[in-house]
This record gives sequence, structure tokens and C-alpha cells, in this order.
Amino acid sequence: MRRRLAAGNWKMNGTSADLEQITALMAAHPAPTVDLLLCPPATLIHAAARRVADHPMMLGGQDCHAEPSGAHTGDISAEQLADAGARAVILGHSERRQGHAEQNAQVCAKARAAQDAGLMTVICLGESLDQREAQTTLEVIGAQLADSVPDTATADTLVIAYEPIWAIGTGRIPTPDQIAEVHDFIRARLQQRFGADMGSAVRLLYGGSVKPDNAATVFAVSNVDGALVGGASLTADQFSPIITALE
Ligand code: PEP
Repeated sequence: MRRRLAAGNWKMNGTSADLEQITALMAAHPAPTVDLLLCPPATLIHAAARRVADHPMMLGGQDCHAEPSGAHTGDISAEQLADAGARAVILGHSERRQGHAEQNAQVCAKARAAQDAGLMTVICLGESLDQREAQTTLEVIGAQLADSVPDTATADTLVIAYEPIWAIGTGRIPTPDQIAEVHDFIRARLQQRFGADMGSAVRLLYGGSVKPDNAATVFAVSNVDGALVGGASLTADQFSPIITALE
């Protein structure tokens, strides 16, 4: 059985005052029956980790460099994230692929570095609206999956997030059938590549405009093991009902 996972991505939002949202979330879910992961900006990870203390909520980064250290001004290594208290990292988010021209090979190298540092990787895949309309969604997802996920991935270190670009931050969400088609496809590809046991154990998240009022519908879809949530993860008021829908 795959343990479900609710992951939040704060993106470039939040200052220390917002750590109160983490406290409120832990108070609302003192003993969660699903895994919780919150990825605040890197500046908050250390303070957030101290606040989380013994609660099972995990903290994560939103990107890392492929090298453990060196002359890379402005970048953060997987080791540094782990040292700050992170247990996971989001990689290959479409905002990194688009805004920073990240290619699959870079995402794959970052994933290897994150694994080496003991971090769980949440690797994001997703098609643009043009690609969906051109009916190339599965082709795009298949190539991203093949080239962004390292051969050394394990069921414990790998989580895949399917995030159609046109659904991120737009309020538009694919139909349950559209989500199922992609998640079933990813599951089959993982089973082909890594074998039935591991391919069946990797968790698949859906991401893109998940809100309290659509979460239950998304979570009922085949091969959806949770969500990667952007905007609605910023406040405990919004994120808590999504977690409850997953439990
Ligand atoms: C995201 O950016 O990972 C995301 C899913 O954003 P939102 O929930 O705001 O659409």
C-alpha cells in the first residue's frame, strides 16, 4: 500500500511571520494518517524545522544544485538543504523548467545529488496547453519521465508529481479522466522501467489548482496518491481541508 502524501509548495512566498501557518497546520493535524511535506522558501527551512520538532511533517526545498558545493553563486546544494532540516526537494517544477530553462538531464543530475544527500525527490512533469491541444501529452510526459528520473531512484526516494502547466495557478483543472489517463500511463512506464514492485510503490501526486472544494474529486482518481499544492498550501485554513480530504 502506498502511503498518501500531501505536499505544499510555497514558491517565492512567505517570511518568518508565516511560520505561524505551519504551527496552525500541526495543531489541526497532530497525528496525520498521511505523509505531510511543506516546501517553504529556503530562507525559512531551518526555522520551520525547529518549529516542526517531533511532529511528522517533513520540510523540503524547491530546487537544488547538482553539485554538493562550489562556485555557484545563489544556488543551494542538496547537502545544504538537508543540513537546514529538509528531508525532500521538489525538482523540475515547470516554473524552473520555463523560468530557468532547466532540461530533463539537469533535473536528473539534481535528483541524483538529492538522493546522495538523503533527500526524497518530488520530480515534476507536465505538458503545456499547446502540447495538450496537439494531443502530444503522453509523448511529452513519457520523455520527461524517462530523462528526468535517474536509474538509481528507489521507491523511497522517488515521488512523481504530474502538473499540467495550464492548470498551475489558473483555477483550471483537468477532468478526472484526463488525470487518470496520465497517472495510469506514468504508473505503467515506471513498472516497465523499474519492475512491478518498485513501479507500483512510487507515489504519484497530482498538482495544479487543487483547492479544498475539488480535492476529494482529485483524490478519488486512479493512481492519485496525493497532491502537490501551490497557492492553497500557503495558509493552514486552505491546506488543512485538503489534507483532511486525503486522510
Ligand atoms: C504548483 O505550482 O506546484 C501548483 C500546483 O500550484 P497551484 O496549486 O497554485 O496551481
